[in-house]
Amino acid sequence: VTQGFKDATLKLKGQARLTDENISPALDAIKRSLLDADVDLKVTKQFLENIRQKALDEVVTLKAKSGLKVSAGDHFTKTCHDELVEFLGGNQTEIIKNTKGPTVILLVGLQGAGKTTHAAKLAKLLAERHKMRPLLVAADVYRPAARDQLKILGDKINVPVFTLDTNDAVEIAQKGIEFARSEWLDLVIIDTAGRLAIDNNLMTELESVRSAVQPQNILLVIDSMIGQDAVRTASAFDMRLNLTGVILTKLDGDTRGGAALSVKKVTGKSILFAGTGESLDKLEEFRPEGMAGRILGMGDVVGLMDDFTKAIDMDHAEKSANRMMEGHFDFNDFLEMIGTIGKMGPIKDVLAKTPLASQISENDMNKVNDKDISRKGSIVQSMTKKERENPDLLLIQKSQSARSRMARIAKGSAHSEKEVKDLVEQFMQMRQMMQMMSGLGLGG
Ligand code: GDP
Ligand code: MG
Repeated sequence: VTQGFKDATLKLKGQARLTDENISPALDAIKRSLLDADVDLKVTKQFLENIRQKALDEVVTLKAKSGLKVSAGDHFTKTCHDELVEFLGGNQTEIIKNTKGPTVILLVGLQGAGKTTHAAKLAKLLAERHKMRPLLVAADVYRPAARDQLKILGDKINVPVFTLDTNDAVEIAQKGIEFARSEWLDLVIIDTAGRLAIDNNLMTELESVRSAVQPQNILLVIDSMIGQDAVRTASAFDMRLNLTGVILTKLDGDTRGGAALSVKKVTGKSILFAGTGESLDKLEEFRPEGMAGRILGMGDVVGLMDDFTKAIDMDHAEKSANRMMEGHFDFNDFLEMIGTIGKMGPIKDVLAKTPLASQISENDMNKVNDKDISRKGSIVQSMTKKERENPDLLLIQKSQSARSRMARIAKGSAHSEKEVKDLVEQFMQMRQMMQMMSGLGLGG
């Protein structure tokens, strides 16, 4: 996890306004952040140039509009964030539907990118959220196990899988669509073969499938972990097949997803979905805001809130999300977060989405485990109700009363005083970030 975003704001700390001089070091910090996130160098340069212009031009209007005192640092990060969102967003944000028959989605991409897995994830998501009736078509005729793999996934989600015992991918695709029509299915997702590298034979085969079935959607499935190679891969596929969109996969890993920015910039095609894990429910409709935060290393607050809503009851989640977005965050919220985290999956994945992500080094991130978290919970449980609701009682580091409170909590929870102090500090950082996020209006 890089420090770019934090560095950039620090560089501007105490500056009243942005100038040609003070913006440069901040831009350098953002540049490092983008390159660390695997954004293509050319794309990075272009992006920074836009930022420079915008940040300098807009400072006056922003001040006038908000009527507030906007610090140079806040303004700068907001500009970066907004520009990234604009870069990443697109007019095409959904699957293109066919009004005259089944909607066809052709999935293409390199081997191992996640095509087969995402064929199934997509079927599940579109069935659940868009009430479509999908058919999966196995047209990867090269790897012997490919059809079985899709069959197994289809069975898991109760979606029919069509294939034929032939090596002709075109025939499988065509017959698949006929089958869907005859069964009144309205969505056909065609899984195709990939290669380890871009290869003319593969492209020719995909072109034949495309002209035979005329899919409304040709989606490139691309592994976010391939980093800088994403540009070459995406432009090669786009050139031959004229993609309609992109599915970015494996965003659950350590990658910061800079590939998203490069792919969008180079092909002009929108990212429609993001894959965030091996299991079939790990597919999200792409949100530029979350991605922008992630690339900048400022965490994905909105995405985190989404996970919250899945893990706990909606009403309650909305209330606490709203509270947090308004900048309210006390030890009770913290405790609840800890409790919820257990239901949200591995702690590392959850942390990666919090504002804390940019503050924690990779090393420390790997050190955090679920046991630590429940130990932290026990510290909070040893606080009084008043302390939990008024964390500032523990903030006044030098005050005698804060110190004796911490000593009492340490004793009560069987922790060292340093552990308690660390927790309070961590909490304060987290609260500060939450407040900053809410100030930036990232909540909606
Ligand atoms: P294909 O060759 O393009 O069809 O790729 P597969 O669908 O067979 O996926 C290759 C590997 O990547 C498999 O082991 C998948 O479980 C894994 N995979 C796919 N999508 C994701 C994802 O979003 N996150 C993670 N961590 N693994 C994924
Ligand atoms: Mg496959």
